[in-house]
Amino acid sequence: MRKYVIMGVQGSGKGTQSMMLAADFDLVHIAVGDIFRWNVQHHTKLGAQVRRTMAGGELVSDDLAEGVVKDRLTAHDWNYGFIIDGFPRNQRQAEFFLESYDIDGVIHLELPDSEVRRRVMARRLCADCGMDYNLIANSPHEEGQCDACGGKLVQREDDTEQALAVRLREYHAKTNPVLDLFRRKEYVVNVDARPDRQTVQREIRAALHLPQHGS
Ligand code: AMP
Repeated sequence: MRKYVIMGVQGSGKGTQSMMLAADFDLVHIAVGDIFRWNVQHHTKLGAQVRRTMAGGELVSDDLAEGVVKDRLTAHDWNYGFIIDGFPRNQRQAEFFLESYDIDGVIHLELPDSEVRRRVMARRLCADCGMDYNLIANSPHEEGQCDACGGKLVQREDDTEQALAVRLREYHAKTNPVLDLFRRKEYVVNVDARPDRQTVQREIRAALHLPQHGS
């Protein structure tokens, strides 16, 4: 069983790298932001509670974020482990997490803020299946259309200059201390997020002593 947390600023490729690891090692990928976005899109009660906060780039309440993680992990469909993306994002969430679960490693994707803006503004998402694109490094075959399902590609509601500035501020103020906490426990591997996705994935596997081709 392998249990990982992946951390990094907006646009550092957490989702992409998590999915690549999850697919090869049969891990369940738990992306807290994706779960919230799904709820917003499907007009659930939770969606209504988080929509405005998310659009502004602020963090939603710890109770809601912890609830999502707890619900997802109590499903116990993670026989081979999980990779959790977007949680914990502050000290309280980190304490909750460490009290409830043990982890094997924290992957920290490092990306300078100057590169974050360029990547985030080029990010597109399929409105139907949620597949991620990037107009710089990973553009769709047909402009504006998802390669997988033909759905329309849209910008995330919080991928605006204004919300990004808030999200970066939140990250540096609240999430950096979580990294320090994990560092003290010697969980953290640092990986440069600037190269192409395959190179970053190779570096992650090397740092975690995982085989390069599945298991
Ligand atoms: P992400 O897709 O990880 O960038 O998350 C998008 C948004 O969802 C964030 O800007 C927050 O509003 C919310 N969110 C995701 N994860 C958390 C969390 N652990 N705690 C609080 N808010 C979160």
